[in-house]
Amino acid sequence: LGLYDRSLLGRAATPALDYLGTSGEALGLTFGALEARSNRMAHALRARGVQAGDRLAFYLTNRIEVIDLWLACIKTGIIVVPVNVLYREREITHIVSDAAPVAVITTSAQLGDLPQGVISWSLEALVAEAASQAVTRSTVLCSANTPAALVYTSGTTGASKGAVLTHGNFAANALALTSAWEFTSDDRYLAVLPLFHVHGLGNGLHVWLLSGCHMRLAERFEHERAADWFETYQPTVFFGVPTMLVRLLDVAPERAAAIGTRTRLFVSGSAPLPAPVMDAFRERFGHVILERYGMTETLMNVSNPYYGERRAGTVGFPMPLTAVRIVDENGQDVPDGTSGELWVRGPNVCDGYWRRPEATAAAFTDGWFRTGDVGVRATDGYITLEGRRSDLIISGGFNIYPREIEELLAEQEGVREAAVVGVKDAVRGEVPVAYVVCDAAVDLDALAQQVRTQLASFKVPRGFVRVDALPRTALGKVQRHLLPPWTIS
Ligand code: ATP
Ligand code: MG
Repeated sequence: LGLYDRSLLGRAATPALDYLGTSGEALGLTFGALEARSNRMAHALRARGVQAGDRLAFYLTNRIEVIDLWLACIKTGIIVVPVNVLYREREITHIVSDAAPVAVITTSAQLGDLPQGVISWSLEALVAEAASQAVTRSTVLCSANTPAALVYTSGTTGASKGAVLTHGNFAANALALTSAWEFTSDDRYLAVLPLFHVHGLGNGLHVWLLSGCHMRLAERFEHERAADWFETYQPTVFFGVPTMLVRLLDVAPERAAAIGTRTRLFVSGSAPLPAPVMDAFRERFGHVILERYGMTETLMNVSNPYYGERRAGTVGFPMPLTAVRIVDENGQDVPDGTSGELWVRGPNVCDGYWRRPEATAAAFTDGWFRTGDVGVRATDGYITLEGRRSDLIISGGFNIYPREIEELLAEQEGVREAAVVGVKDAVRGEVPVAYVVCDAAVDLDALAQQVRTQLASFKVPRGFVRVDALPRTALGKVQRHLLPPWTIS
């Protein structure tokens, strides 16, 4: 909290935040107002009997009250459990039964979306109760080791696990990002990422709190309004996921060029940024997107540099304070140029998974967190991610990284996107199969023929399946396990 007091207390009279309501009007608040609102909220939570160490779940889209609640919990040691608002019964039940929160806070309009039996609190009722509470701050002392949030992984690979992130994890991440990306109180940050995910919460919110810059919070990214947001708000920094940056390519060239001159930094993460998007973005906005790599369990790990070359297809160098190793199956460091699993260590890495000692033990070796991501380091230090260990296809003894084939497919005329997965094969163990989203004019046999000329034979997908869309998480990650099954015909 001390880190954020330079903003909350030190810049009390400075405009901190504005929020774009659904009717389009911007509501402004100073840091002092946020301090007062969150103190009131902290008293209201205490009046409801919530204590330090209790879990409290939020099922909310981006809005000022999420920030009031977050700060109230930081001040009082309550552990926040953010729940993705796109989640439905099965996913919510999983999180609620695992985290056992005191209650799930949501708006009265969304109360009906919660499964039967879940203890829910209406946000409106809490806000009304907070209004009559004292504005004085009353905190519970938290150390760097005190849990601040229980954040569930995105469930891209199937199992969503609760990562216990401490106050120290958030602070270390915010310090590293603020310094690496040169955040100052003069910045203007356009926040469109959901606050229920670490990209929006750990990076966006905390960099804002630490630097004391200004933030405009939007409920969600709406690509039709994105150019207007940039023009009316004139942000200096934008954090997004690749799908958002792809949508920004629709902005007309003159408008994009003008936006580019006023913005100093565009960051992409959470999923791979295709090199052609980076090129197109540079042409249109005059900016080289800064791509970085992080995960729920570790917050940010590796980032392209703010100064120096931002290399397409790579995620750059370890963040300040973070150490990265690339190791083989036996946990031995591999030489540069050789693929291996990324292991990370640093004050940003979580303590483990909530009430899952086996999963925690499996995820750590000698204090190093095993990310499950496979990558390679070039001799000049740039790290390239090649995919997840669990996505690796081993076919007749050869390793196949789906990402390489997916990128090649996406470069073909008429192909919008592709996902490659391994399916069981009696002879080779596994063989790759490609799911493609493409224009009706694309002939799959011709596509297969084309790919065959550009790939080693063992990497050529055994089957090509046309799909309308790839199943994706809220942040745009492909959920391979939800693709329709394929059988050799
Ligand atoms: P689950 O662990 O539940 O399967 P998840 O791993 O997708 O879901 P997150 O913690 O939200 O959940 O995402 C972290 C993962 O996102 C990383 O392990 C990595 O695979 C991927 N990722 C993040 N940034 C990048 C990037 N710049 N390029 C490629 N992949 C990335
Ligand atoms: Mg994961």
